[in-house]
Amino acid sequence: RFVSLEGGEGAGKTTVLHALRDGLQREGAEVVNTREPGGTPLAEMIRALLLDPAHEPAAAEAELLLMFAARAQHVRETIVPALERGAWVISDRFTDSSYAYQGGGRGLDVDFIAELERRVVGLQPGLTLLLDVDVAQGRERTRGRDLATGANGPDRIERERDEFFERVRATYRARAVAEPNRFRVIDASQPAPAVAADAAAQLRAWREA
Ligand code: C5P
Ligand code: MG
Repeated sequence: RFVSLEGGEGAGKTTVLHALRDGLQREGAEVVNTREPGGTPLAEMIRALLLDPAHEPAAAEAELLLMFAARAQHVRETIVPALERGAWVISDRFTDSSYAYQGGGRGLDVDFIAELERRVVGLQPGLTLLLDVDVAQGRERTRGRDLATGANGPDRIERERDEFFERVRATYRARAVAEPNRFRVIDASQPAPAVAADAAAQLRAWREA
């Protein structure tokens, strides 16, 4: 009952999150929608620190450890309690984001990330929906997003070069190939309603399998 949504900027994760919740709630299920970095008050403060343009950019290692600090809290405070009471948990990003961004994007050692995952996280989603869209199209969709809404970090998006996001995308796709039982790849170049419909269909198929 633990589902994560992954993908680059402008893939439409937030829209899918709402659509999946609405579908499950219609069946009367309890659904906890959450996000990373964030998902608890402390973890949201770490998110705000990470996205705050007022200070210098985080060193890659600092970013990695802050992501895992936030995730450690998120798992213990939000995800595990919800799963234990039988709720669905749908997270906008989870550990795959650290492999993609801090590993693929920023070049940090995958074995170190795996070690953190093992020691600090200790659980994986049963289903991970990868919303895959090419870098140029994703960038186009995030243009004009307001940092003040807290929805995203547009200046982060502006700051990174396309090569960074190409590495992020390639890492996600490689992970999906390596773990076909957990991952489903969704063509996120489609209009948002079609992406949401595909995601709902994949969730349904996974539950019936
Ligand atoms: O999911 P969302 O786009 O709101 O993420 C906020 C920002 O944090 C994005 O700019 C994303 O690139 C970044 N991020 C990251 N590493 C992670 C998770 C998110 O760089 N592990
Ligand atoms: Mg989003």
